[in-house]
Amino acid sequence: MPADPVAIARDLISCPSVTPAEGGALAYIEKVLQGAGFNVQRVTFEEAGADPVENLYARIGTAAPHLMLTGHTDVVPPGDEAKWTHPPFASEVADGVLFGRGAVDMKGSIACKIAAALDYLGGNGGKPKGSLSFLITGDEEGIAVNGTVKLLKWAAERGEKFDHAILGEPTNPEKLGDMMKIGRRGSQNGTLVVTGTQGHVAYPELADNPVRHIAALMVAINAEPIDNGTAHFGASNLEFTSIDVGNKTVNLIPAEARARFNIRFNDTRTREELRKLIEARAAKAAAGEVRWHIEWEPSNADVFLTPPGPFVELVSSAIREVTGLTPKLSTTGGTSDARFIKDYCPVIEFGLLSQQMHKIDEHVATDDLVALTAIYRRILERYFAQ
Ligand SMILES: [Zn+2]
Repeated sequence: MPADPVAIARDLISCPSVTPAEGGALAYIEKVLQGAGFNVQRVTFEEAGADPVENLYARIGTAAPHLMLTGHTDVVPPGDEAKWTHPPFASEVADGVLFGRGAVDMKGSIACKIAAALDYLGGNGGKPKGSLSFLITGDEEGIAVNGTVKLLKWAAERGEKFDHAILGEPTNPEKLGDMMKIGRRGSQNGTLVVTGTQGHVAYPELADNPVRHIAALMVAINAEPIDNGTAHFGASNLEFTSIDVGNKTVNLIPAEARARFNIRFNDTRTREELRKLIEARAAKAAAGEVRWHIEWEPSNADVFLTPPGPFVELVSSAIREVTGLTPKLSTTGGTSDARFIKDYCPVIEFGLLSQQMHKIDEHVATDDLVALTAIYRRILERYFAQ
């Protein structure tokens, strides 16, 4: 009897694991993987200012190559539960559709990975020809400080070495097989600050209005594209998201103006080079006559790319054989835990459909769960047959 990804997904969705609650989801995975011969460890990480969060690491096999299947069991809150047609943690199936918080993001794809692993092990004498591990966090949807980033470090300190990783975030815009992610853009927040001289609005010659200056600097910063993109990335983009003066008085020229922005950047430049470029544009526009500076926020979201090669092709061909579609190799979207994994091994992302993420009545077609399990199963067969 093949493992049933729909049953596993239902069991997982029934666990109310809204970040940072474990909700029984990791306990369930622990039981299932232990039953299949995995060595399972549960670890809780904590840090001042953040909730302690439980995580799970399970491995079977000792040899190389070592494939990591990874993801998160925490989910975003359901919002107004009265708005759900099927209650968010009831795991109801209606007309071939499974409803519940986490159906696509990402308990569904974790269920498919578990079912594929059980089937693979069942068909191969209970052991992989190499090592297979599950690295599952309960802290992805929150501030993500007590999850994957610490779990990877914890595993590395225990001598765990990974050759490749597959993260199960929802990657397909329309249909299963549309798209896999082979990289992600980096992210950088900043605030442009211009200092002027406060004064009466009727006597501008006695003041220095920072609002005029910040407008000019913003235009100058955005006047030219940052770059034109690369083979695998779109153009980097700087987007101003807020202009803040906080001035409630009509006859006052304020002393300071601030403009917040975010940059999503590709692999044309390093983060440092990017900051220098933006500062050079501001400096040129300021021409030594405007007092300005940029406050850069710390960030752990760096750009990365897993270039097309044998591993990407192995995953892509498994997707093609099951769905008939050749997935687009994409680097679009926000950041994901892949930004941490890339420091340990090449990582790609492939999961379910992305439209339903975080929505009321989040759902997944049970056919997609079956097909995704078949894809993961093929990946395991090929990976360990190399
Ligand atoms: Zn997710």
